[in-house]
Amino acid sequence: MDYRPDMDAHLAAKKRQYAKRKKRGKIILIVLLCITIAAVWALIGVIAVRLAGSVDRPVQTTVSAPILTAEPVATGETTTAPIIETKAPDMQTVLIEKEQVSKGSLILVSSLLGRAYDFEQESNLVTLYGNKSGSYRISSTALKLDAEALDAINTMFDAYYAETGNRDYQVTQASRTFEEQKSIYDSYLKTYGAEQGALLAAQPGYSEHHSGYAIDMNVYTSAGISHSLATAGEVDPIYAWIYENAAKFGFVQRYPEGKTSVTGITNEPWHFRYVGRGHAAYMVENDLVLEEYIALLYKYPYDGEHLTFSYDGVSYEVFFVPFTKDAEAVEIDLRADANYTLSGNNWDGVIVTVSK
Ligand SMILES: [Zn+2]
Repeated sequence: MDYRPDMDAHLAAKKRQYAKRKKRGKIILIVLLCITIAAVWALIGVIAVRLAGSVDRPVQTTVSAPILTAEPVATGETTTAPIIETKAPDMQTVLIEKEQVSKGSLILVSSLLGRAYDFEQESNLVTLYGNKSGSYRISSTALKLDAEALDAINTMFDAYYAETGNRDYQVTQASRTFEEQKSIYDSYLKTYGAEQGALLAAQPGYSEHHSGYAIDMNVYTSAGISHSLATAGEVDPIYAWIYENAAKFGFVQRYPEGKTSVTGITNEPWHFRYVGRGHAAYMVENDLVLEEYIALLYKYPYDGEHLTFSYDGVSYEVFFVPFTKDAEAVEIDLRADANYTLSGNNWDGVIVTVSK
């Protein structure tokens, strides 16, 4: 009788052991199943992320594009909309060669700053005789100017003639060679002495007339009387026209009263310089001579904020592209449809003008 309870206890223990093992087996199975499911999900997740990754990139571009293009002045991209729509900005790369530094209608030639004209560069000089309009006179058939400047003079005096019926402005000096400037300089030194003579005439190599963008003018009436522009306005107020209108055609009075300390040249009411339409208007509006304008443009580099202004329905965006001493060329990116001009500062870089 002792046997039964022992046997029962033994059987019960066995049963419990069996049940425990069965239970443990079940747990292991469930854990394994869970691990398998997790692994499969993880795999699916990785594949999904990989697939989504290739779709994500353009999505990110469209999100970031407005942020980038929201600064048109800093990036040089003037219109943002087409860039966002197409995703691939329609740009052009402009290669600017080093020789451009000493070429163009904004070059600064100055004795005071030691900026000589570079005679090695290719010039674009044409004679006024045979190419000028009939709205003004010339004092010599030998006068030559840069073709773009001559075009602007023709337009300017055609406007003057249309307004006043007069054709009495006369161009007396235009482009000069080194030798021509040397002979003028020497004669000034002889007449006025070394100190005064040097203030009145630029040293050979440092005259703005070398550039082909400068002219001297007087008035030569139909009665055969000539007046200096210094006094012509007193003779007839009509001759103040040139000071009020030259900037509209891209010209500035280059050596005005009160700027001798900046230019190194005393007041010359007869000497005008072609710099281009927008630039001339900006300089007159802000009372800047070329030395001051060129200095201002250093503050608007290609990779920074650009100078923007409007004149006569045209928007201008102007910036400076510096050239290091060793740089043979510099590449810049502009919108493919940008209408632009280049001019060196005749020292250490090129000014880019985008207009529309
Ligand atoms: Zn002059």
